[in-house]
Amino acid sequence: MLSKRSQTLGESLTLAITALANDLKAKGEDVLSFSAGEPDFDTPQIIKEAAIKAIEQGCGKYTAVAGLPSVLEAVQFKLKNDNGLSYETSEIITNVGAKHSLFECIQCLVEEGDEVIIPVPFWVSYPEMVKYSGAKPIFVYTDEKNGFKMTADELKNAITSKTKILMLNSPSNPVGSVYTKDELKALAKVLEGTNIIVLSDEMYEKLCYDDFKFHAFASVSEDALKRTVTINGLSKCAAMPGWRFGYMASKNKELNAAVKRLQGQSTSNICSITQHAATAALLGKANEDVEKMRIEFQKRRDKACELLSKIDTISFYKPEGAFYLFINISKLQKDSMKFCQQLLEQKKVAVVPGVGFGMDGYFRFSYATSMDNIIKGIERISDFIQNYKA
Ligand code: PMP
Ligand code: GLU
Repeated sequence: MLSKRSQTLGESLTLAITALANDLKAKGEDVLSFSAGEPDFDTPQIIKEAAIKAIEQGCGKYTAVAGLPSVLEAVQFKLKNDNGLSYETSEIITNVGAKHSLFECIQCLVEEGDEVIIPVPFWVSYPEMVKYSGAKPIFVYTDEKNGFKMTADELKNAITSKTKILMLNSPSNPVGSVYTKDELKALAKVLEGTNIIVLSDEMYEKLCYDDFKFHAFASVSEDALKRTVTINGLSKCAAMPGWRFGYMASKNKELNAAVKRLQGQSTSNICSITQHAATAALLGKANEDVEKMRIEFQKRRDKACELLSKIDTISFYKPEGAFYLFINISKLQKDSMKFCQQLLEQKKVAVVPGVGFGMDGYFRFSYATSMDNIIKGIERISDFIQNYKA
């Protein structure tokens, strides 16, 4: 009855575990969840007010497929101001979250016979989106010591005549590593002379810690600017996950036109009220709130790293960004699904198995939750691990 591509489409493990933890909590179980891929902070007041004003002013009509001129100008301002990138408003499209931007780009760009390079570990949805298009994900296994960042040589070795897209994600989910400008430049150099398009997923841009600086891939060279689709959103960095706002910016006229056609025949414009709220965020009106969140995330990262480093059978890369830790449990258990199920059943702690990110023997711990939960949760994890029998 179903199309082949629908039958083989896997479920989002991150969403599934979060839903399971919420169900258990609703039933009264004392579950501590570290599965969430969303900030626990509320959307800043000034963004909410922009939405309320838009509702009151009757802004509930359809808009242009790519978005209102005002929101496109706000994205244009943000990209110039924060990243030094110059895009025309005609080169920008707003989408129903960055997940939707990625999905639309992949569906418009590739098909059977094409290859898409995905560094491992990856964000859960990349391979599924690629497989849904008919193209083949090419997994590049990276080095844990290097924060699982892909090197220029690893990229060079993965390129074939069939390669059409490189998926890049910095700061990364699930590791939290951030590519330096030099690392990005080295990757950009490898791509010179090819037709490979980079989908640069910059969702966690504003969540960088200590002295680590975020660099947009398109900003590292003229060549990179031409081949990159800059993809971003406000779910993580403006605490707006449920508002569903993402955007893409690209110099590729054909791709932009194809995405507009696909969107025009599927979702039309994104929610008009969200566009008004997003405009306030993109113009920097909530920057103080965002900075407060970043500082709080950094404190939680530090606490979680301090406590977890006392458990000697596990190891992890200390993240420079995002709000996750990717924890190596391979000395205890290679089957991450089994480990996470046991942890949930026995200690009521929800984390996401590494297998969902392409790497068994790990789990992802999200510290987008209160300091109290982090302390209590790591106590339970420590207890569980001390008595662990595979
Ligand atoms: N990319 C990464 C790496 C993510 O973690 C997420 C989180 N869901 C997204 C893209 C998509 O986010 P959204 O659709 O909420 O904008
Ligand atoms: N991206 C978040 C995560 O990795 C949210 C869940 C999802 O969209 O899959 O948990």
